[in-house]
Amino acid sequence: MDENTEYYWCELCGHVYRRTTWEANGNRCPNCGADLQYAHPWEEIRALNPRYPATPVVGREYTMYGGA
Ligand SMILES: [Zn+2]
Repeated sequence: MDENTEYYWCELCGHVYRRTTWEANGNRCPNCGADLQYAHPWEEIRALNPRYPATPVVGREYTMYGGA
């Protein structure tokens, strides 16, 4: 759990949701139900993809290496 990030990206389905939405869903991905071991802070994904926006679109799917 990274308390400093506002958004989590799910490694299994590629969707982004607010951290609070994951928490409200029992710390699971609201889209596919993956647990927190598959959750990556948005900042981590954005570091790999400089063209991704600082604020992601909630519920959108982003590939791990799609915006480099
Ligand atoms: Zn997911």
